[in-house]
Amino acid sequence: MTEAEDKKQATPPRPNQHVMDIFIISLMFFAMLSFFDFEQEGSQDIPYSEFKQRLRDNDVESVLIRGDKITGNYRRPIDDFIQFDTTFPPMEDYDLFPLLEENDIEVRVSSAEQSTWTLLLINLLPWLLIIGIFMMSSRMLRSGGRGFPGGGVFSFTKSKARLTNKDDIKVSYDDIAGLKHAKEDLSEVIDFLRNPDKYRAIGAKIPKGILLIGPPGTGKTLLARATAAEAGVPFFSITGSEFVEMFVGVGASRVRDMYKEAREVAPALIFIDEIDSVGRTRSSASGLGNDEREQTLNQILSEMDGFKGDEAIVVIAATNRPDVLDSALTRPGRFDRKVILDLPQREARLEILKVHARNVVMASDIDFEPIAAATVGFSGADLANLINEAALLCAREGKSEVDNSFLERARDKVVLGEKREALMSIEERERTAYHEAGHALTAFHMPYADSLRKVSIIPRGMALGITEQTPTEDKFTYGQHYLEDRLSIMLGGRCAEQLVFDEVSSGAANDLQQATTLARHMISEWGMSDKLGPLSFHSPDESFPGQQMLAGKGYSEHTAELIDEEVSKLIRTNEERTKFILAEHRGELDSIAAALLEKESLSEQDLIELLGHPAAKK
Ligand code: ATP
Repeated sequence: MTEAEDKKQATPPRPNQHVMDIFIISLMFFAMLSFFDFEQEGSQDIPYSEFKQRLRDNDVESVLIRGDKITGNYRRPIDDFIQFDTTFPPMEDYDLFPLLEENDIEVRVSSAEQSTWTLLLINLLPWLLIIGIFMMSSRMLRSGGRGFPGGGVFSFTKSKARLTNKDDIKVSYDDIAGLKHAKEDLSEVIDFLRNPDKYRAIGAKIPKGILLIGPPGTGKTLLARATAAEAGVPFFSITGSEFVEMFVGVGASRVRDMYKEAREVAPALIFIDEIDSVGRTRSSASGLGNDEREQTLNQILSEMDGFKGDEAIVVIAATNRPDVLDSALTRPGRFDRKVILDLPQREARLEILKVHARNVVMASDIDFEPIAAATVGFSGADLANLINEAALLCAREGKSEVDNSFLERARDKVVLGEKREALMSIEERERTAYHEAGHALTAFHMPYADSLRKVSIIPRGMALGITEQTPTEDKFTYGQHYLEDRLSIMLGGRCAEQLVFDEVSSGAANDLQQATTLARHMISEWGMSDKLGPLSFHSPDESFPGQQMLAGKGYSEHTAELIDEEVSKLIRTNEERTKFILAEHRGELDSIAAALLEKESLSEQDLIELLGHPAAKK
């Protein structure tokens, strides 16, 4: 059991709370009863005329008169009833009492006052019912649903942060490969949480908030969790979107509640994932539903300001959109320490593969180097997934240990998709072979192109064939020559179809989409057009719905036309280059297509042997 739970359980409901609950519930129960007009069970409801006839027939033994109601007992069961009841008519009946006396019937009269009380009670009870419900719900709201099973709808103002006790955190820094700098940056926080008094004695203030910035799957959550484990403190984790509800104010009260809980168990570490979903720039242009987000953000900011200097709570927030964060969130005193988590480099990828292979039975001669080299752009999460895919493949095939071939196949599956059976006609297969040969040959002759890894006409995922290139090194920026070569290679498939079959097909749709996107980036964002010059025409926050629409494009219609023209020119120029290369090496194109039709899959080495010369590389 966690310490927080201990504390919650240390304050059981007071006994008089139970008495109050029982009182309210019984009140409501009786009130409900009053809605129903309970008649005595086994009593026959008869008309007044029949009642008098029964008197005359001497069937009645006794009567009780209460207001305008008469109930009585028969001398013997009639129609299986022993009792009856009836109602006086509105006018006086002077015959009734002589008739009763005549037949020697026992008559009792009940006081009319009692029925006034009953009446009063009946009228009051619905109100008592309403007041009871009101009292009960306000008590539930105040207690945040505690004491009521599951909390129900009443717990929506409670913090949704999940608390993991220090002993239950199963990861440590040993389980995190790479991220050397990030670990170093956080070591001070660990020391502070372990020993806050040391810092208090000197008067040193530790950063209240740390922002982890990095693409998805780079280990932000893992790092925060392991930091709590290393410091030996409880770990509260929540995602930004969990604060925000439809109702304004709920997010803010959840923030309050979360900080309150953390203070109770301090020293503690709070982790807010996807902080950008509440911490976006506060702007009137951001559209509807903003109030709740703003209130939540304001509450986070004021809680951070409210930290006493020596309070041993550290908040780590994670985002992959630092550009959209409100500047108030990142100013000194708030999330002022930023730790960047990049996609892992080759060395780190190798380590991550090894970390995740620890729990998998691996062949003794396993070599992670080639996979680490062929997984540029993979995040830690992708690499963990790759190892798992390899283990799944191995188990599915009934093998006892994962070897290099499983790693290779798992990589292809993750990058290219699962192999699939596609019933292609002979013509379609030939067209696909030329299409892929077109990409491969262009890549082979382009001086700045990445190395060819594989060209294949085995359908995978949505594609009928693939040409895969992998950079030999991790790249951070891309030169114009490299990008233009990439454009040419993307167009290689379509150009080959045009050259060989004298027509193009719909098979190049994806290539064209990619080429257009790349060309647009080159022209409008990366200043690679002489006509437009070194200007960026990129909206700072395109993914912010409504903002772009309200703010406008930020450039004139004339510029928009110019961008379109330049994009089109860039693509056409590279198309010409590709056409030229393919026409010049038509014989090689035919050889590659024929080899693909025969073997289905070729490596760069196969191409070198087939064509008899190495690839043109700068
Ligand atoms: P998101 O932004 O999508 O929330 P994240 O950056 O928080 O992602 P995590 O959830 O921490 O990423 O990582 C997902 C998984 O990837 C981890 O559980 C772990 O298995 C693996 N992983 C990521 N980075 C590393 C690493 N450096 N070393 C070992 N494993 C890693």
